[in-house]
Amino acid sequence: MSDSKNLDDMSRSFALTTKLDAIVAWGRRNSMWPLPYGTACCGIELMSVMGPKYDLARFGAEVVRFSPRQADLLIVAGTITEKMAPILVRIYEQMLEPKYVLSMGACASSGGFYRAYHVLQGCDKVIPVDVYVPGCPPTPEAVLDGIMTLQKMIKDGTPRPWKDNWTSPYTLSNPTS
Ligand code: SF4
Repeated sequence: MSDSKNLDDMSRSFALTTKLDAIVAWGRRNSMWPLPYGTACCGIELMSVMGPKYDLARFGAEVVRFSPRQADLLIVAGTITEKMAPILVRIYEQMLEPKYVLSMGACASSGGFYRAYHVLQGCDKVIPVDVYVPGCPPTPEAVLDGIMTLQKMIKDGTPRPWKDNWTSPYTLSNPTS
């Protein structure tokens, strides 16, 4: 086989792989199944995003799931106490790859105004977070903007914010249990 034929075959397979990646990313970003981890007032605001006025279904993410095994987008909405942190990690670890995390509001992202020993100062202390939505609570428009940001990240193939050598202090030995 000549070198030029080899080159032709290679370029065709690269083109096919690139197209396949784009198609998979298209399907992935337009059919996210969110799991709402609502623990406080942000959880209430999140409900309005799902309702008819803001209509999350327009972004293909209306199939809310309360089983981590059926969800690929974890929305952390509310204060996370130290006691809740291991539960949050368990839920995250039970989700299948590829999975994403959106942190909604000041409490989920940084502990908010709870500068206290019993509140986690940001859920990214225990799980990786892809998108932070600021506010107390964030408006539904801001949450939708966060969803669209995540869709763009999936489209662009942005790597997830996870350090290879970093492990959560609450990582469980058997996440499937
Ligand atoms: Fe409530 Fe504000 Fe905290 Fe959201 S960020 S859970 S609205 S206190």
